[in-house]
Amino acid sequence: MTETSTTTGTPAATAEPSRAIELHIHEVTPRLLTVLKVIDLSPVMRRVIFGGDDMTKAVFPFRPMAVSDHVKLVFPELATGELHLPEAGPDRLIMPEGRPRPLFRDYTVRAFDPDTLEVSIDFVLHDHGVAGRWAIAASPGQQLGVLGPRGSHLYPTGFGHYLLAADETGLPALARWLEELPADLSCDVFISVDSAAGEIDLPHHPGAVVRYLHRSVLGVTALEDAVLSWRPAGDDLFVWAAGEATAMKTIRRHVRDVLGVPKGHTDIDGYWKNGVEGLDHHAADDDD
Ligand SMILES: Cc1cc2nc3c(=O)[nH]c(=O)nc-3n(C[C@H](O)[C@H](O)[C@H](O)COP(=O)(O)OP(=O)(O)OC[C@H]3O[C@@H](n4cnc5c(N)ncnc54)[C@H](O)[C@@H]3O)c2cc1C
Repeated sequence: MTETSTTTGTPAATAEPSRAIELHIHEVTPRLLTVLKVIDLSPVMRRVIFGGDDMTKAVFPFRPMAVSDHVKLVFPELATGELHLPEAGPDRLIMPEGRPRPLFRDYTVRAFDPDTLEVSIDFVLHDHGVAGRWAIAASPGQQLGVLGPRGSHLYPTGFGHYLLAADETGLPALARWLEELPADLSCDVFISVDSAAGEIDLPHHPGAVVRYLHRSVLGVTALEDAVLSWRPAGDDLFVWAAGEATAMKTIRRHVRDVLGVPKGHTDIDGYWKNGVEGLDHHAADDDD
């Protein structure tokens, strides 16, 4: 992101709608949280609401338009079922001594309630990995480690039009886009799900045209195909996309090479990669 600016602490109030992604860095607080509620949003997506005493350890960062803010979830050790959290050191996390490296996975903060200090996370239900399987079995009283969010990307609100595209893993962030993008702005939204059963109710945005794409009908490349055949009405465009990394690579190249959108007016992130365990999403962006 060439036009990202970095600050720490509370963002200053700005009169003009922003044109760049602002990055705000936070101290990472490791917390042991308890599942309070589990709500099925669809047969393939489940909301888990977490809370507990550790929410009072430090302020939980939750900013408007930081719609892709995410935490690192720490899962119990596979061999023992024990949960060991890293500690916050002066400049980095200190891993638990004498234990295997904890199992971390990135998940979007779908919602945070500042009154109850509850955090909502929407999980795709799949049985290929530790996080997906944990979500399938999630029930009140279970515990997980939660680190972060480490940084907030505040997306700009000064563009003429927005193109938003996601598969199921990007749906929580996309729902936040629809909730938080100012009502006088417009966006085209493409969401790839396997079938109608994967559709969830999304917040209403008056300027949004939302299209669900069914992979069972349109094929596995439904999301890329839809974005590649879409054309913007004007050239003042901001593009956000999240989902399977290979699909994101195709979309990233198209947005750059065909639509000619400057890199700083985009954030296109590979959230998972077919066949790869625990993808590092920063590495997935390196496709130039
Ligand atoms: C910034 C960020 C935010 C994210 N937010 C969310 C979120 O809010 N909700 C959410 O559900 N996911 C989210 N993800 C994606 C999630 O982190 C990955 O799907 C992660 O790989 C799941 O871990 P796992 O242990 O289940 O599978 P892994 O152990 O990582 O992978 C094991 C196997 O499962 C496959 N796999 C991984 N994810 C999926 C999937 N979704 N569907 C089918 N197969 C899969 C992999 O290809 C691999 O073959 C986010 C990722 C990032 C980077």
